[in-house]
Amino acid sequence: MAPFTIRKFGDPVLRQRAAEVTAIDGKLAKLADDMLVTMYDEPGAGLAAPQVGVQKRLFVYDVGDGPRTIVNPQIVESDGEWAYDEGCLSIPGLSFELVRPNHVHLVGYDLDGNELSIEASELEGRCFQHELDHLDGILYIERLDEDQRKAALKAIRQMTFVPADAPAPGLPGLSLR
Ligand code: ZN
Repeated sequence: MAPFTIRKFGDPVLRQRAAEVTAIDGKLAKLADDMLVTMYDEPGAGLAAPQVGVQKRLFVYDVGDGPRTIVNPQIVESDGEWAYDEGCLSIPGLSFELVRPNHVHLVGYDLDGNELSIEASELEGRCFQHELDHLDGILYIERLDEDQRKAALKAIRQMTFVPADAPAPGLPGLSLR
């Protein structure tokens, strides 16, 4: 059984900006381990701390090269365009094609406190942008065009993970009700 339950769309924790990590220690490494187990259990290619209810700026991912953790990530450069059918473990069962920059340059820290500088494109680059958005309280469906976003909200409204009495999430100008 996965150590965490993944927070789903409508949970306010997904809409808040996570705080910078101030100490890279054993506790943080344990958190990352538990996040990875949770991610593989789904399975997913990436998981950000707010998705397990922890308001810290880190995410874990594996796009085929093994598990990695990035602490206090920042995208310092991005260019190009790439269309990809994006989904999210917090909005299960749904995916929408979304165009984002293809190449990104990400900096941050690993769990030993070493500085990281990673140039990524396609799936890895997309993963970085998606997970970094989570740390800023942004869900990918907010980046869809208006028609796609309406379709996404309509589909979400019919999903079982949204309790009937949940408050309408505050997407600008839109409501689930
Ligand atoms: Zn996500």
